[in-house]
Amino acid sequence: MAENKRDYYETLGISKNANEAEIKKAYRNLAKKYHPDVNPNDKTAEKKFKEVNEAYEILSDGEKKSQYDMYGHAGIDPNSGGFGGFDFSGGRSGGFGAFDMNDILNDLFGGFSSGTSSRRNAAVHGEDVHTRLSISFEEAVFGCTKEISYTRIETCETCSGTGAAKDSSPETCTVCGGTGTVTTQRRASFGMTINQTAACQTCRGTGKIIKNPCPTCKGAGLVRKNVKRTIEIQPGAYDGLRLAVSGAGSAGRNGGMPGDVIISINVRPHPVFERDGNHLICEIPITFTEAALGGEIEVPTLEGKEKFNLPEGTQTGSVFTLKNRGIQSIKNAKLRGDLVFRVTVEIPTGLSEKQKNILREFNESCGNKNHSKKEGFFRKFIKS
Ligand code: ZN
Repeated sequence: MAENKRDYYETLGISKNANEAEIKKAYRNLAKKYHPDVNPNDKTAEKKFKEVNEAYEILSDGEKKSQYDMYGHAGIDPNSGGFGGFDFSGGRSGGFGAFDMNDILNDLFGGFSSGTSSRRNAAVHGEDVHTRLSISFEEAVFGCTKEISYTRIETCETCSGTGAAKDSSPETCTVCGGTGTVTTQRRASFGMTINQTAACQTCRGTGKIIKNPCPTCKGAGLVRKNVKRTIEIQPGAYDGLRLAVSGAGSAGRNGGMPGDVIISINVRPHPVFERDGNHLICEIPITFTEAALGGEIEVPTLEGKEKFNLPEGTQTGSVFTLKNRGIQSIKNAKLRGDLVFRVTVEIPTGLSEKQKNILREFNESCGNKNHSKKEGFFRKFIKS
């Protein structure tokens, strides 16, 4: 039997020196051409499809390929690969063994697997699940571990996704012959007819009829489930950040990959700090006396309060920067922003008569040299 087999390279129409990418490309093209979904009830196509798959299974596997290159078909144990029993009736890769053609199918039929015309066997990528997570300013800055809870679609465990009740299996739809699509002719202008292909209404494009549906999922093969998951948020997270947990979303169909969970981070505001990228911004009220005399003031930082020496004669609105005392970058833990604070002079209110008298006395002692701005302002005013 082995002697009658076609050369695998010949089957895929490639040279013996073809690289991995070329082998894959050739396979994809041929698998698409001969796939039973594209050629319903075509025995020749089915035979070719099996040959193409067998050739690819060997040539895409480094070890099997080198055995084949050395010994030809005799080097391949026909029983080891498990391609004695190709069976396409079940849809999924019953006889493929370790070889998983789901991603290829997804590739082949991805183009029309979405929407209404979904085809029998077409691998459909699972939906992404979007969720929001609110965290505190500190949690964002220092990172945190959070549990999220969301609803996703999972494969029904009762029927393993077939949708059929125990001890039964889905039957081929007689209306579309299992293709999932029906073609109708429509009259167009100038006596032409147009072939229209649409999803089969009877089986909703699945190609299968489930007479005895699974009680858990009512035949859908899929169930909604609430799941919890712990996620790590890296230090430096920010409001509006989107995190993705790959593969944690809804299940794919027909062996399609699961979707992702996309988490939009909402950071609650801090009573004192604002953010500008990785810089921390805050406004610190100081007294009139502190501004005039200078001296030690307290500055809030992420690590707690810190002393800062305010220079004598600090004006309201003056901005000071503490280098590298801001927020760690989420992209590079070695980078840290600055802490930038602005001081505003708070004018004292509710003064006693005694305090007012002190201020009046103080005011009389002041000359132009103490208020250069005010003095300059009026000089400009008189000139104009
Ligand atoms: Zn079920």
